Amino acid sequence: MSLKIYNTLSRKKEPFIPIEDKIVRAYFCGPTVQDEPHIGHARAYITFDVLIRLLTYLGYKVKYVRNITDIDDKIIKKAFEQGVSPFEIAEKYFRAFYDATKELGLIPPNIEPRATGHIPEIIELIEKLIERGYAYVTKSGDVYFDVTKFKEYGKLSKQRIQDLIAGARIEPGEEKRNPLDFALWKHAKPGEPSWRSPWGRGRPGWHIECSAMSMKYLGETFDIHGGGADLVFPHHENEIAQSEAATGKKFANYWFHVGLVTIKKEKISKSLGNIIPIREVLRKYDPETIRLWAIQAHYRKPLEFSWDQLDQNEKILDDLYAVIFRAESLSKNAKDGKIGEIKKLIEEYKQRFLEALMDDLNTPRAISVLRQMIREVEKDLDKLNKAELSFYVKTVREIGWILGILQQSLDDRVIEKKKRGKNISNIIPDKYLKLDDISENLIELIIDIRDKLRKMKIYELADEIRNRLRKLGIILEDTKEGTIWKLS
Ligand SMILES: [Zn+2]
Repeated sequence: MSLKIYNTLSRKKEPFIPIEDKIVRAYFCGPTVQDEPHIGHARAYITFDVLIRLLTYLGYKVKYVRNITDIDDKIIKKAFEQGVSPFEIAEKYFRAFYDATKELGLIPPNIEPRATGHIPEIIELIEKLIERGYAYVTKSGDVYFDVTKFKEYGKLSKQRIQDLIAGARIEPGEEKRNPLDFALWKHAKPGEPSWRSPWGRGRPGWHIECSAMSMKYLGETFDIHGGGADLVFPHHENEIAQSEAATGKKFANYWFHVGLVTIKKEKISKSLGNIIPIREVLRKYDPETIRLWAIQAHYRKPLEFSWDQLDQNEKILDDLYAVIFRAESLSKNAKDGKIGEIKKLIEEYKQRFLEALMDDLNTPRAISVLRQMIREVEKDLDKLNKAELSFYVKTVREIGWILGILQQSLDDRVIEKKKRGKNISNIIPDKYLKLDDISENLIELIIDIRDKLRKMKIYELADEIRNRLRKLGIILEDTKEGTIWKLS
């Protein structure tokens, strides 16, 4: 079993062979911090997170770099509109992005470099390109990359340079030799943030930062370069051109692109007004549900977003958790014994699960194997001994880690769902919960009244309620998110 990933450069699934044995150097284009991160970002970053997790699980040491574009036309425009510094805009949305990635459980990159922190490296790279005849300086102090000098231009997006040139045009005020040439350095306009350079004050163009930062931290040639499918052209095409022109070496060996998110089959965009921020989704659904939604389709295909889809994924996750929690609950009183026949079955499923992921990260197949496994083992759950139950739970949680799901304890899961006003009875093991709706509602009612008593600082009575409920076998636990209960 060996890992295969689809390489946009060759348009083929290829066996994955890193440059250095057991080490993977990976770069993923991070956000331009000019707005709230949305569901399209969530999908791209969650998918790459699963790839990083899989590589880690397979024993690779992963060097993972994801940049922050913190200077750019859109950031400057927004800052002008709001009358604040562009750095303030960048900081605000960097924090929003950081919070979202943390809540979604994304493994942080080893390095998260910012464009504005790498101006000397960017200038050095541009100087090299000018020296080698691939870039030119204009009268006003812009520097452009001359695409006609890079013979392989178009090799990633599989387009012919003549066709691209025919389709491009020069905007007013641009001093390009060729409409397809792209800016490496832009001269400063009044009021814009700028840095000193050999060509006067200015700031870097977008594409050059990724070349400068990836090569600085990962070397001139590294293993995987990823990003959203919308970055293939022109961003990644330009990254290849300028990096390979500067070094004469292959830039990245594998190009990994994540498909776009659609709503009612339409692309999400500002102009259509259908952008949904991650924060809004996180208010209604827990992070693991969002992760499951993000990987339910193959990563190269478009993924449809709808609230129904999230409901369905939440239900799938609840079903998976219900069996895990039941197994954990059963194992407390289960008989001791050796692991029998069931081990083989569980290991076969685990193998099939890994095979699915090794086949170009086929997450929908992996999820379906996981669901089959859980259904199959659930049938005999009551008959399993302690060792078997714990082997089963351990295996499910271990492979769930690769997808970033099934990592919560019963209490954590209950809190996560209650926080969002969700029903929890479907994940609580039968052993804990054999109540009808009326009794459940009565307990909730008592908890509400006890909460009010606590708010009124009538603690003695609140404690009495808890103690008397405990005698009835109902355990209350006060958490930050409110009181949860279970049967003892
Ligand atoms: Zn990039």
